[in-house]
Amino acid sequence: MKEQFDVIIIGAGIVGSTVARFLSRYHLRILLMEKEPEICMGTSGANSATIHSGHSVQSGTLKAEMNLKGSAMWDTLSGELQIPFERRGDYVIAIGEEELPALDILISQGRANGVLGLSIISGDEMRKREPNINSLTRGALWSRNSSLCDPWIATIATAENAVANGVTIKLNTRFDDFIMESRRIVGVKSNHGIFGCRWVINAGGVYADEIMHRAGVHPEFKITPRRGEFFLLDGRYVTLNNLLSPVPSKVSKGIAVKPTADGNVLAGSNAQDIENKEDLAVTPEGLTEVWAGACKLIPSLNYQYTLAVFAGLRASGNAPSKNKLAKYNADFIVELAEEVDGLINLAGIESPGLTAAPAIAIQVIELLQEAGEKLTEKSGWNPIRLARIRTNNLSVEERAELLKKARYQKVPSWLWSALRQ
Ligand SMILES: Cc1cc2nc3c(=O)[nH]c(=O)nc-3n(C[C@H](O)[C@H](O)[C@H](O)COP(=O)(O)OP(=O)(O)OC[C@H]3O[C@@H](n4cnc5c(N)ncnc54)[C@H](O)[C@@H]3O)c2cc1C
Repeated sequence: MKEQFDVIIIGAGIVGSTVARFLSRYHLRILLMEKEPEICMGTSGANSATIHSGHSVQSGTLKAEMNLKGSAMWDTLSGELQIPFERRGDYVIAIGEEELPALDILISQGRANGVLGLSIISGDEMRKREPNINSLTRGALWSRNSSLCDPWIATIATAENAVANGVTIKLNTRFDDFIMESRRIVGVKSNHGIFGCRWVINAGGVYADEIMHRAGVHPEFKITPRRGEFFLLDGRYVTLNNLLSPVPSKVSKGIAVKPTADGNVLAGSNAQDIENKEDLAVTPEGLTEVWAGACKLIPSLNYQYTLAVFAGLRASGNAPSKNKLAKYNADFIVELAEEVDGLINLAGIESPGLTAAPAIAIQVIELLQEAGEKLTEKSGWNPIRLARIRTNNLSVEERAELLKKARYQKVPSWLWSALRQ
């Protein structure tokens, strides 16, 4: 073997990076393996950036459980990692009388899931809170605890904190296969050689099905990517106070309009099942559909203020919920594989996977303990990651002050070179 680890995590999206960060608390040699040249190149970098409160997930599913637990963890996590996060709340908007019954269904579902801070407000009240909203708005579901975050910074920060606590990251390193001794996994083959390990955690996003199939696990499980397209609009020219969603469809939460953590506006997304797991194309038809959906909420939007268009792929799986009471057949898989020893699968992690990531990480710790792994805490584990200073936001005087301080203190090389620009 090239190098020996206790745990290899495949995939440095929000799920793999958060698992790495939480596991870095223990005496474990951990490798986070990512096939792309950078972390957060998959779905974690192309989504609606919302920490959902949990009213729109089917009751009784693992998704609902992980949504609620994960959402509650983000206040502490964002504080420790010093990343943007704001419990601004969100609104599901009923346009026309015929959409009002959907709000009652959602509020009942949310309460059954244990979501606090839900109420229904009138169309008039909604127009006061969001003056540019569609004048046909008849009511809205207000969810006080939904939040906006920055999923890119969140993933980078969790991975940075994991590395600061001893995790090794290997980029451009693609998992190719497992190395087995009888039914036990003892290592993995990659495009950069073989690595020994006692545990593999499969956080491979849209490829999580193919990864588990290499070990002969759940051959019936299939991920069909569900593409969602977005517009990013320039926040200097679009007035939007709140996170707004339409009443949901059967397959997605619908085309929403939301402020981003850095002051722009996100409009999206649609939901289209595709076959190709690399197909991140935006299409004229898709963008037309997204624009129409966004304008249904805010009719005055102007596409002249578009900064970018992009697409993300939901890792939609076909795993039935383990809870027999749930009427849903596409739940998360968070499990110790039964067919082999040494594999934990985190698969089918479509929305609300960003929200759920910290809860999934805790579940991984519990699964390892359940399997007999003795986890001992490191004395020097540091949960704090300092926010990066954005030097382009500083005045000349502030830069000069920092430079003066930098002469007497050890500062990171990236900050030193940024200050001297
Ligand atoms: C349109 C859209 C909107 C969404 N909105 C929200 C939202 O508002 N709130 C929310 O909570 N969730 C939302 N989600 C869901 C959320 O984005 C995902 O659940 C989450 O990002 C999944 O993270 P992940 O780490 O599992 O996957 P990814 O981010 O895709 O990470 C998987 C990683 O594994 C790597 N990988 C794959 N195969 C290999 C291999 N063989 N070797 C090495 N590396 C490999 C990939 O390169 C990738 O980096 C949305 C998703 C979409 C598409």
